[in-house]
Amino acid sequence: MNHFVSNNGELFCEQMAVAPIAREVGTPFYLYSKATLTRHFLAFDSAFAGIDHLTCFAVKACSNIAILNLFSGLGGGADIVSGGELYRALTAGVDPKRIIYSGVGKTEEELRYALESKILLFNVESAQELERLQRVAAAMEIKAPVSFRVNPDVDPQTHAYISTGLAKNKFGVPIDEALDLYVLAKGMENIEVKGVSCHIGSQLTLISPFIESLRKVKGFVERLAATGIVIDFIDLGGGVGITYDAEEPPHPRDYAEAIKEELQGVTATLILEPGRVIVGNAGILVTEVQYTKTNRRAGMKSDQGIEQVKKFVVVDAAMNDLARPSLYGAYHAIVPVQEKGAEREVVDIVGPICETGDFLAKDRELPRVEQGDLLAVMSAGAYGFSMSSNYNSRPRVAEVLVDGDSYEIIRRRETFESLVQGETLPGGVRHGH
Ligand SMILES: *Cc1c(COP(=O)(O)O)cnc(C)c1O
Repeated sequence: MNHFVSNNGELFCEQMAVAPIAREVGTPFYLYSKATLTRHFLAFDSAFAGIDHLTCFAVKACSNIAILNLFSGLGGGADIVSGGELYRALTAGVDPKRIIYSGVGKTEEELRYALESKILLFNVESAQELERLQRVAAAMEIKAPVSFRVNPDVDPQTHAYISTGLAKNKFGVPIDEALDLYVLAKGMENIEVKGVSCHIGSQLTLISPFIESLRKVKGFVERLAATGIVIDFIDLGGGVGITYDAEEPPHPRDYAEAIKEELQGVTATLILEPGRVIVGNAGILVTEVQYTKTNRRAGMKSDQGIEQVKKFVVVDAAMNDLARPSLYGAYHAIVPVQEKGAEREVVDIVGPICETGDFLAKDRELPRVEQGDLLAVMSAGAYGFSMSSNYNSRPRVAEVLVDGDSYEIIRRRETFESLVQGETLPGGVRHGH
């Protein structure tokens, strides 16, 4: 359930009509509902009530500090994958003791920054990373708290680009080799072995792959215990999928019940790293129609003798603002912000970027729209703004948070000046020989 609802053909976010916000803020922009963000966080987190757990929001899904601050206020932590995300989480007020650090490529600088910040856990993904972490921690004369991310080789049955727990994926340490790494880590002066983690992929619509990997992790934890290594944390990775179109992902409640049952008799604290399930349906991208155009294929008729035409709706949002359709062929529902008539047509909704791959939807049936109309790209809260770029020198868009009957701009639209910030004309300081 979310708080984007149409009322007599007019799209609302909570008690705010979307169209007047667009007039004031300009388009395109991301619009989030505070009530939905809160509801989704609490629905997920409270589903695990009764067992010792920590919900670490995956910052990469939606990294605005206002939103991180909201989750932190609800008792959440953060799952980060870069020094930049650590900076964001700390700036947002997230307790470092609730921050865990994932990712295959942590630099020395990033490790040092996270050690200085005294985060809860490093999810280490290779032997070389362990050695580097030991070296950096030794120089700082502290101990680094470590979980290893094991790769359980489980098929999450999701999009290939967002599968991470298969042996062929770059992530984690093969579960069969991980034992040696734990033994090695145990003997290291500045490493404190704390947990086991795994993350098998994103947008999962089945519970069974989670349970299959949890079983493998549990088996592994028992083998660890047999060698005298007892861990405090089991991290199960990201959350379940969401409904973009017709997907029927499990409810967090059922997901949590299945996990709780599987965890009976296990004493470790459970860590979860949900991203998409919390923010995905809590945000939309609002865009304005710039042009409509029809391309006819000269001389081409279909078998029924109907002229082949292709209709395009050119909007002011593009693949740099929302990459998912271009990157994964992802589906996002698109609805008019203000519905006008019953007439419908099949169109491609495209952006102004000079790439054929720049589309938000293809062959989509939509109520007829015209220049100046507003469209809402639904379910854009996760991996939307956070994946946006400046490609084609497009300033990144504004982010707006609605709370009841008012809104706040939580990130102002970039300007042309911000596009060239940090760049210089030749003739400045020169380096080299
Ligand atoms: C991306 C990611 C997540 C979040 O996944 P969602 O599907 O958005 O819940 C969690 N943990 C790690 C390590 C990730 O890379």
